[in-house]
Amino acid sequence: MDDEVVVRRSRRARRWTLRAPWGEPATLTVPARLPEREVGRILEEHRGWLARERAKQVPRLGLDPRAVSEAEARRATRELVAMIAEEEAEALGVAYERIQVRDQRTRWGSCSTRGTLSFNWRLVLAPLDVLDYVVVHELCHLREPNHSRRFWSLVESRRPAWREQRAWLRDHGPELLAFRPAA
Ligand SMILES: [Zn+2]
Repeated sequence: MDDEVVVRRSRRARRWTLRAPWGEPATLTVPARLPEREVGRILEEHRGWLARERAKQVPRLGLDPRAVSEAEARRATRELVAMIAEEEAEALGVAYERIQVRDQRTRWGSCSTRGTLSFNWRLVLAPLDVLDYVVVHELCHLREPNHSRRFWSLVESRRPAWREQRAWLRDHGPELLAFRPAA
C-alpha cells in the first residue's frame, strides 16, 4: 500500500517532522521555504520508515467502536481505578486528593503536585493488570515525583511484574490511544 503523505508548510517550523499517527494520514511538516526538491528527497528517504511504521499499525486488540461507548468506559475505568487506588494508597502510605478520568490523547495517567490523579478512560479496554500498573505507577509518584531509580524500585516492590505491563503499553498503547467509539 502506498501511503499518501500530507505536506504542510509552516512558518513556525525550524526543521521538518514526519509523523504517521495510528489511523490518520502521514504528515510531513516542513519550514515554509524549504525547496520542493528537498521535500521530495525527505519523502523518498523515509519511505521505508513510513512502511515500517504502518506495518506495526495493524489492529490487534479487536476493539469494536460500536461495542463500547465512552460514557460506559469512563464509568468502568473510574470504578476500577478508585478501587485499586484506595487499597494501594494505604499500602504505600500516601494520600491523594481526587481521581479524574479524562480523554488524554497521549498518556495513560498523570499525578499533579496537588495530589490529583488523572487517568485515560481507555484504560478499561486494556488488560486489568495494565490498568492496575498505571494506577500503582501514579500513586508511587506521590512518594517519588521523578522516574528515578528509587521510583522504579518502589513500583517493583508493589508490582514485581511491572515490566510486562509497561511492555504491553509500548506494544499496544498506540492502538488503544487511537481508539474512538462510534458516536
Ligand atoms: Zn511516571
